[in-house]
Amino acid sequence: MEVLESLFSKALKLESPWEITTIEFLEKEGRINIIIDFPKGSVFPCPKCKKEVKAYDTTEKQWRHMNFFQYACYLVVRVPRTECKEDGMLQIEVPWARSDADFTFLFESFAMTLCREMPVNRVSQIIKVDDNKLWRMMSYYTEAARKLEDYSGVTKIGIDETSKSKGHDYVSLFVDLDDKKTIFVAEGKGSETTSEFKEDLMDHGGKPLDITDMSIDMSPAFIKGVEENFPQAEITFDKFHIMKIINNAVDEVRKAEVKE
Ligand SMILES: [Zn+2]
Repeated sequence: MEVLESLFSKALKLESPWEITTIEFLEKEGRINIIIDFPKGSVFPCPKCKKEVKAYDTTEKQWRHMNFFQYACYLVVRVPRTECKEDGMLQIEVPWARSDADFTFLFESFAMTLCREMPVNRVSQIIKVDDNKLWRMMSYYTEAARKLEDYSGVTKIGIDETSKSKGHDYVSLFVDLDDKKTIFVAEGKGSETTSEFKEDLMDHGGKPLDITDMSIDMSPAFIKGVEENFPQAEITFDKFHIMKIINNAVDEVRKAEVKE
């Protein structure tokens, strides 16, 4: 193996049977292709039973990887399908990426780190990746992270509604008041959002009867939803909403007095 191939191989942490066969430098396109392959006769673990089996055929795939200086780097790989006696023909998993993704894990982690710090369309311009692809990536990792969330210790919830754009499309936010973290978002602001939250809470190990306190605004929909789904919970009206109602009332009285 040439020095350059060997260096890239180490940087990518490639393990046998994977090896870099060629590195193509396409200066005009601003691109480097790292061609990864495996020697004839190599074996791979069957994706199901993990038994070592030979490759049956291959499909060429490519993944965008981290830039090499100003050049976009791509891994171009012949990905094999294994033929297992028990499990049949299956596409193997590669160690550097999700097989249906367009990017390597390292690139995705870089892109997600940027998305945490700035708007997605800005990230899209900087790393030159279509923002739809970034949104898809984000929704995949958000879902994956949410699946692991454990709400078994949640006891105090605050609910509030907000609009996605000014005055339109309401969403209801459910906040764990101890952790100060939004743990569920539902479309709309009706009482059904509370039952959707209950389902989701249970999916993550939470128990509706463990919810002892709920802080809400005075909307009849939320009151009804809490009473139906969280019978143990004591309702507290959000101070902000009460102050707003009192202020409006004081205003009305003041106006009436001025008129008199
Ligand atoms: Zn198998």
